[in-house]
Amino acid sequence: METLSTTCVIAGGGPAGMMCGYLLARAGVDVTVLEKHKDFLRDFRGDTVHPSTLQVMHELGLLEEFLKLPHTRIRTGNIEIGDEHFTIGDFGYLPTAAKFIALMPQWDFLDFLAAQGRKLPNFHLLMQTQAKDLIAQGERICGVLATGPNGNVQIKAGLTIAADGRHSTLRDKSGLKVDDLGAPFDVLWLSLPVLPGDPADLIGKVRDGQLFVMIYRTDYWQCAYLIPKGSFDTIKADGLTKFRSRLKSIAGFAAGRIDETIKDFDQVKLLTVTVDRLEKWARPGLLCIGDAAHAMSPIGGVGINLAIQDAVATANILSPVLTRGVPTFRDLKKVQKRRQFPTRVIQGFQVMAQRFMLAPTLAAMKTPKPPGIVRLLNTWPWLRQFPARFIGMGVRPEHVRLPKR
Ligand SMILES: Cc1cc2nc3c(=O)[nH]c(=O)nc-3n(C[C@H](O)[C@H](O)[C@H](O)COP(=O)(O)OP(=O)(O)OC[C@H]3O[C@@H](n4cnc5c(N)ncnc54)[C@H](O)[C@@H]3O)c2cc1C
Repeated sequence: METLSTTCVIAGGGPAGMMCGYLLARAGVDVTVLEKHKDFLRDFRGDTVHPSTLQVMHELGLLEEFLKLPHTRIRTGNIEIGDEHFTIGDFGYLPTAAKFIALMPQWDFLDFLAAQGRKLPNFHLLMQTQAKDLIAQGERICGVLATGPNGNVQIKAGLTIAADGRHSTLRDKSGLKVDDLGAPFDVLWLSLPVLPGDPADLIGKVRDGQLFVMIYRTDYWQCAYLIPKGSFDTIKADGLTKFRSRLKSIAGFAAGRIDETIKDFDQVKLLTVTVDRLEKWARPGLLCIGDAAHAMSPIGGVGINLAIQDAVATANILSPVLTRGVPTFRDLKKVQKRRQFPTRVIQGFQVMAQRFMLAPTLAAMKTPKPPGIVRLLNTWPWLRQFPARFIGMGVRPEHVRLPKR
């Protein structure tokens, strides 16, 4: 079997793994990132690049170049409850270089990071290479066993990072314990055409026990239709006609586009919502970050944001250690200590919103009364900065604190 050696091996070339790999390599650490797919092309994978991530790009001196990639800018958050429209968030107030959410296909974002990484001699990205197991020496993890295009390969490393997403193989192999926080709903993703005169923004719609989110993507609407957990099979069994009429009753100005667009359930992608987190993010030689440490609910679209923030914190804390030697278990625990609080606060908010807003709305089958807070935000524009700050910047935002070597 081929054997490679590196200072840090990262399993998973998603937002957490690519950003962490790039930052560590930039700080002078030899890094090998493994991605099981041959490219980053994946539909509906989450395309939101939040102001805090754009701020990280700004701190890295990459923002200007990054924003040359085609993207759409979301500046406000809006909600329609029945026939009433409310603006409830405004990113224009944020103290960040970019005062908007950039919507960009995730593969463009990851390709961009990969291209930046490839400029560094100590950044190695192995595509079509899937981490299968951990290599252990006594209690300590010292690398991974993977399968690549040329067969099996063992990659020895002083630090192994599991950034392989919500179904993380390495997390399973590590024996670290996961707490499932539960989610009462799933999401169906679908696209609808954009027509001249459409509003260019983010709109959540609530009506008759249905929840629908429309995200403007310049040439199409990316739409999320929320359903009670596990009910997609029943929806499919009821047939396409019934599904289309449900969509038409909630899609407002886009209702007339449903029949000619949704011809098959294959056009609808199910996101099984999971909210969980590890009790301990590390064991000696191994650290989990991003969705591998905490799968987020789609509420607020913050999964990518948190994954990037984990990557920045990991690089800030561990790169000085990795340039000198091998991090201790104590070093790895510092990453959890830093990132656990923001993760808990955001997941806490998501679980409350699921329990007290989404689940009752889906169950009630009628349009709820607009809550007082929604009316307040709509009336006082200045207040809209608070939800925008929570969603756009998160809690305790991370800043790049690395020397470029
Ligand atoms: C359908 C859908 C829609 C979403 N929409 C949004 C959104 O709009 N906004 C948002 O912020 N978040 C969204 N999310 C969540 C968001 O995508 C994740 O929170 C975020 O991508 C987590 O980043 P990550 O790097 O930790 O993991 P991932 O993005 O899951 O990346 C993990 C990577 O590891 C690779 N991999 C997996 N196993 C292995 C292995 N064994 N070896 C090597 N490579 C491996 C995978 O191919 C993948 O590239 C969505 C998620 C889904 C599924």
